[in-house]
Amino acid sequence: MSYKSNNKKKLKNVPDGYDKIKQVLDDYDHQLRLITINNKKDTGTNNSNLMSNDEDLWEIYKINHLKSKYIYDLYYKRKIINAKLYHWLLNNNIVDRHLIAKWKKRGYEKLCCIRCIEQSNGSSVTSKDGIKGKVCICRVPKSVLLSKEKERQKNNNEEEGKNTPDDDDLFKVVIKPCGRCGCNGCASTD
Ligand SMILES: [Zn+2]
Ligand SMILES: [Zn+2]
Repeated sequence: MSYKSNNKKKLKNVPDGYDKIKQVLDDYDHQLRLITINNKKDTGTNNSNLMSNDEDLWEIYKINHLKSKYIYDLYYKRKIINAKLYHWLLNNNIVDRHLIAKWKKRGYEKLCCIRCIEQSNGSSVTSKDGIKGKVCICRVPKSVLLSKEKERQKNNNEEEGKNTPDDDDLFKVVIKPCGRCGCNGCASTD
């Protein structure tokens, strides 16, 4: 994960307009710091890199996503900040430039985090729903998951002579957070 704290880093050549968005960015940083502090308490260690559980990591991914999304929207959608400020934020790693670069590609508009499309670790993701390969479960459209689950249950139930459950019940089975980052689904069609 590429999040870096801007705490100790002195920012140079701060462009006009930064003071207007600084508060929001600081709030996100504050939330990130709180997670780390709580973690130190939980584990009784000073090692800030040590994460006690997945939920803390998920929360960090989520905040990092929201922070980058805030800047992305300000520039591309709301057109409130200028190109100079936008590129300065990217170049200073204040937001995740790699994630933002993906959002501009078709099919990746809602991508939660870079980890969920990384294939370098070589571990293939196999879900209980029978979707194999290196695609993270949260990248598979819900409609695909739903129809796979429907088919699976139909086959099971026919053997046992039961009725197939309705879509609402199936949805509860299908919607599980991604184990890598806690994402509830980030396919563009969702
Ligand atoms: Zn995702
Ligand atoms: Zn994922």
